[in-house]
Amino acid sequence: MKNTILVTGGAGYIGSHTTLALLEAGFEVIVLDNLCNSSVDSLNRVQKICNKLPIFIEGDIRDRILLNNIFTTYKISAVLHFAGLKAVGDSVNNPLEYYENNVAGSVNLCSAMAQANVFNLVFSSSATVYGESTQMPINERAPTATPTNPYGRSKLMVEELLKDLSYSDARWSIALLRYFNPVGAHQSGLIGEDPNGTPNNLVPYISQVAIGKLKKLSVYGDDYPTPDGTGIRDYIHVVDLADGHLKALQAISKTGGVNIWNLGTGIGYSVLEMIRAFEMASQKSVPFQIVNRRQGDIAECWADPMKAQQELGWKTERKLNDMMVDTWRWQSLNPYGYKTSSNSVK
Ligand code: NAD
Ligand code: UDP
Repeated sequence: MKNTILVTGGAGYIGSHTTLALLEAGFEVIVLDNLCNSSVDSLNRVQKICNKLPIFIEGDIRDRILLNNIFTTYKISAVLHFAGLKAVGDSVNNPLEYYENNVAGSVNLCSAMAQANVFNLVFSSSATVYGESTQMPINERAPTATPTNPYGRSKLMVEELLKDLSYSDARWSIALLRYFNPVGAHQSGLIGEDPNGTPNNLVPYISQVAIGKLKKLSVYGDDYPTPDGTGIRDYIHVVDLADGHLKALQAISKTGGVNIWNLGTGIGYSVLEMIRAFEMASQKSVPFQIVNRRQGDIAECWADPMKAQQELGWKTERKLNDMMVDTWRWQSLNPYGYKTSSNSVK
């Protein structure tokens, strides 16, 4: 019998790349997504790439009746839990939505899993839980800090609740994957990141400037204590990130308890280095201006990925140039993302 995985948020950016990797590895995949920040086209494109289609259920992780139905209809062995809201600024203005989707939604999902005797869970966490770490690179033993916004706090809360759950019942086997900065797109150019409105993140912003949708990038500060004064992050190719989920899934089927793994490359790049790399890959110029620091940003953040390497046998394969070439291919082939024109709806 086929191994069936439930992927919440599987139509989204990271979820669609991971769904593809699961299908390619021979898993049966059920995607549950309410499409609040994605399009079902991502899954049709996944089918174009691998000739397999996941079962798609349009619905919400907060809908307990629906979850119970899914768990009784399908024999699910594990859940990859991507569903949630992720815009930091928006979370400051709409904290309840973030706690409801990210925290209450995860509570609901876990209780439905427990009721159905499904105890293997991979959770999308974030390096944001480390806050402004003084140790660089950051390993998993670094203390977590109180994040500066409701989005970050919601991630930390879910991490804590999952730890409590595993202490309460030894059947749980949970991976907390702390992503650094996911970027890039599948090399087919068929799936990629499709932000709603003006992007908040650096790489989608740069690529929209390069294609002429946005005029100029604002570089948030050049007075950080870093070699060129701009912020440093650990950017990871989304296809490497997706592979990390498959390795984590394998690992938790053999271990128990809560396992934390950083998913990053171990290399940090500054904003100015990112702009130059993108210009090289796309042969387009990216005009920018230096502006004030963005509130809540930290100077630098990069991973020590050794724990994942040793315990999962996983390490990133793709380099900065691959991230930029693949981002540019996705952006130039799909100037409006999954929409067909600037005024069609997602
Ligand atoms: P995304 O918005 O593209 O994907 C999230 C998906 O979840 C979307 O398809 C959305 O429609 C769906 N969704 C949201 N709320 C839902 C709900 N209540 N019920 C059902 N579906 C719901 O985001 P992404 O970049 O793919 O991120 C996936 C996960 O990884 C998120 O949990 C995010 O917080 C986390 N993460 C992302 C980053 C990043 O930079 N992209 C970094 C660290 C962690
Ligand atoms: N950044 C920037 N201009 C932008 C968006 C981001 O200079 O329009 C910088 C930001 O200050 C940080 C880096 O790029 O140093 C990565 O930011 P992003 O929002 O992509 O990720 P995060 O803040 O979550 O690490």
